[in-house]
Amino acid sequence: MILVAGSINIDFAVQVQALPAPGETVMGSAYLVSPGGKGANQAVACARAGAPVQFVGCAGSDAYGDQLREALQSDGIDTTSLRRVDGQTGAAFVTVGSDGENTIAVASGVNQALREADLPELNGVTHLILQLEIPLETVRAFAQAARRAGVHVTLNAAPAHPLDDELLGLVDLLIVNAGELEALCGAQAGAGLEYQLEVLSGRGPKAIVVTLGADGAAFWTNGRCHRSAAFAVQAVDTTGAGDTFVGVLVAALRHMDLTAAVQRASAAAALACTQRGAQISMPRLSAIERLLAS
Ligand code: ADP
Repeated sequence: MILVAGSINIDFAVQVQALPAPGETVMGSAYLVSPGGKGANQAVACARAGAPVQFVGCAGSDAYGDQLREALQSDGIDTTSLRRVDGQTGAAFVTVGSDGENTIAVASGVNQALREADLPELNGVTHLILQLEIPLETVRAFAQAARRAGVHVTLNAAPAHPLDDELLGLVDLLIVNAGELEALCGAQAGAGLEYQLEVLSGRGPKAIVVTLGADGAAFWTNGRCHRSAAFAVQAVDTTGAGDTFVGVLVAALRHMDLTAAVQRASAAAALACTQRGAQISMPRLSAIERLLAS
C-alpha cells in the first residue's frame, strides 16, 4: 500500500493567450473546475498506475470537500484518513497560457489543519509520499514515523522551500523541479546541476530526481548523475505533470529500479501534458504502457 499525505484542493483554471504580467488583466473564455492539490493529484496518479493507495489529508466542510472525497474514491483510493474539518476546502487559481505554461495561486484552507495525530497505522504501508502544501512540522512527524516503521519515504519538496538537514536525512527519494532545487541549494544556487545534486545528496536523501519540463529529468543515485529524455508530445497544459511524475514514479518503484521508474514516470507526465486539468489529465496504466512500447 502507498500512503500519500498532503493537500487536496479544488482547482479553478482559465486558459489565456499569454500569462498576465503584474497589474495586467487578460481575458479567457471558459474556465474549468476540477479536483487538484499536490497530495490528492499524486494519489490519483499512483492509483491509475495500478498501485493500492490510501490518502491522508483534510477536506473542508463546504460542498467542494465532499466532491473531492468522491473524486478520490472513484479512483479506488482509500479515504478513511481524509478528515473533514470545519472551514474552507483548499483552492487553487490556475492561469494556463497558450504554450501550456501556467501560474498558480493557492488558498490553503483546511490543508493547514493536518497534524501528526492524523497519521494512520502504517501496517501494510510500503511507501509514503509527502509534499510541502501541508504544515512542515506534520511533514517531519510523518517522515519520522515512516522511517521508524521501515517505510520508504518520498518527499516532493514543492512548492519551493528551503529544508533543514534533519528532514532531508529522513528522505529516501527527493523529487524537485528546477526552481525547487535552487530553493534547496542555498549557497550552491546557480551552480551546475551535477554539483548541486552531489552536495544535496550529502545532506541526506539516498536518491534525488530533478524534473526539467520538456528537457526530461536528471537523477542522482549511487554517487552518479543520470539523464532521462522527455517523451515528445504536443503539450497543451502542464498542470499536474509534476504530480503525475511523482505518483507514477513511486508506484513503479514497487517493481523496478530508479532508471526504469523515471522513464515510466516521464511517459505518464508527458501524457498528462496533452490534456487540460490536473487529475482529469492523468493517464491510466494501459496508456502509459502504450507510449512506452511505441
Ligand atoms: P513541474 O510541473 O512540477 O514544474 P516539470 O515542468 O519539470 O514539473 O514537469 C514534470 C515532468 O513532466 C518532466 O520531467 C517531464 O517528464 C514531463 N513534462 C513536462 N513538460 C513536458 C513537455 N512539454 N513535454 C513532455 N514532457 C513534459
